[in-house]
Amino acid sequence: MNRLDGKVAIVTGAGRGIGRSIAEAFAEEGATVIATGRAASANSFPDGVHYLQLDVAKEEDWERVVADTIGTHGHIDVLANNAGIIAYETLHDLTLDDWNTVIAVNQTGTWLGMREVIPHMIAQGGGSIINISSIWGSVAVSGAHAYHATKGAVRNMSKSAAITYAKENVRVNSVHPGFIETPLTDAQAPEINDYVVSMTPMGRAGTPREIANGLVFLASDEASFVTGSELVIDGGYLAQ
Ligand code: NAP
Repeated sequence: MNRLDGKVAIVTGAGRGIGRSIAEAFAEEGATVIATGRAASANSFPDGVHYLQLDVAKEEDWERVVADTIGTHGHIDVLANNAGIIAYETLHDLTLDDWNTVIAVNQTGTWLGMREVIPHMIAQGGGSIINISSIWGSVAVSGAHAYHATKGAVRNMSKSAAITYAKENVRVNSVHPGFIETPLTDAQAPEINDYVVSMTPMGRAGTPREIANGLVFLASDEASFVTGSELVIDGGYLAQ
């Protein structure tokens, strides 16, 4: 397949879970993929995937990865801001440190990525940014207060960026996964997972590839008139 032929794409949090699946799907569609993560190295990516270390909360890491990608490949056509963490603390139990950690990765990391790539996308005549929010960027469950705050922020930051850069042909969209089986959800309490699946009309967990398929569309020129949108991939959760 070649829906992303000629495109250079940066994917954050690509070491496992949804991010790894996005990197693999982009490469299968012909993109040159810069897969990034906090680890110094990563193995077993397919051809067309190059790994760089990037902690999304660190400004200097973003500057290095974007400069390296432009220096090596000349352009950045797609940014998938996928890296994210979750913490289950109710509002009154949260410490300031825990709050700041979740904000730094999910929210500040997403903003830093957009800030670093957008000037290059404007200069080259356009690009596609896809920010991973969540069903929990739109509705809430009890607990996970900081996570909800960040995923709501990602949802609306995406719309703000979409409007700001629409004339420059920089498209910005958010993707809202429902319950997806990944190391993140594997590590959660079974009662949380059972509850979210029981509340999902399709009655099952989604797969990382079902999210990655949506990102392929948004990254491709098939989505040339799509900006500021929310792509919900959730087995019907938000339709209730
Ligand atoms: P995951 O399996 O835990 O993978 C998350 C990835 O993000 C890991 O590779 C992790 O790398 C990376 N990461 C964490 N902190 C980072 C940082 N500071 N800098 C760079 N990378 C960092 O999670 P997932 O389920 O695939 O989730 C991916 C995204 O989808 C997240 O934004 C999550 O909120 C969102 N989401 C997931 C679900 C779900 O049901 N799974 C539902 C809705 C939304 P390390 O190995 O370095 O920690």
